[in-house]
Amino acid sequence: MSHSSAPAVFLDKDGTLIDDVPYNVDPGRVVLTKGAIEGLRLLHAAGFRLVIVTNQSGVARGLFPESALVAVEERLRELLASAGVPLVGFYYCPHHPDGVVRAYARACGCRKPEPGLILRAADELRLDLARSWTIGDISSDVEAGRRAGVRSILLEARPQRVVLRPQAEEVVPAGSGAFAEFTFARTKRLRMNAEHPSSPLSALPLDARGEVGYRVAPRSWPDFVAVDLAEAAEQITGSGR
Ligand SMILES: [Mg+2]
Ligand SMILES: [Zn+2]
Repeated sequence: MSHSSAPAVFLDKDGTLIDDVPYNVDPGRVVLTKGAIEGLRLLHAAGFRLVIVTNQSGVARGLFPESALVAVEERLRELLASAGVPLVGFYYCPHHPDGVVRAYARACGCRKPEPGLILRAADELRLDLARSWTIGDISSDVEAGRRAGVRSILLEARPQRVVLRPQAEEVVPAGSGAFAEFTFARTKRLRMNAEHPSSPLSALPLDARGEVGYRVAPRSWPDFVAVDLAEAAEQITGSGR
């Protein structure tokens, strides 16, 4: 990859950059999440281009026209600009296999966890994927990033602040089913966060191993877990590039 290309952070929109209001396209209800401004400023100052990558199946589902996303993008650009950070790209997937609007009702290569949006943005904006990250609030955000070859951070809005109790029903024997290589993600998350003293999870004892199971495909594992964009930005900028 050319050194002239810039690193980026690919941001999920709903539940990551803004508070999640399902299928909302009213600009007046677009509100940045707690920690977003601080996080975005930190990332921008560190040289990362900021790009939104978002699934917008409401188009395929007939809940709003694709044109409604213009005002949403405009609002997001305003919010970021007022915080002093430019948005260099807004990429969305309007498709869904079960959609009702014929033109959008199909499988595609851009609906996360597919990596299409990230790859297209990288191509069009000359971004260096090897130095880039994705931040999202669900596993398909992480998986899209991994498939595109970027590191990832999963936001967990409500981190566990208490010692976890055994949840036997979530424990699945290794080698079974579609998640054959599942492991104890909760334990891994605690470990990952413990490596970052800024995390509120870092104070937790690491005694949950073997008690709390959580089915996650390895490709959906993030590099780090953060409580909000501010912490995610600290992890990214502090991790070395
Ligand atoms: Mg989301
Ligand atoms: Zn798509």
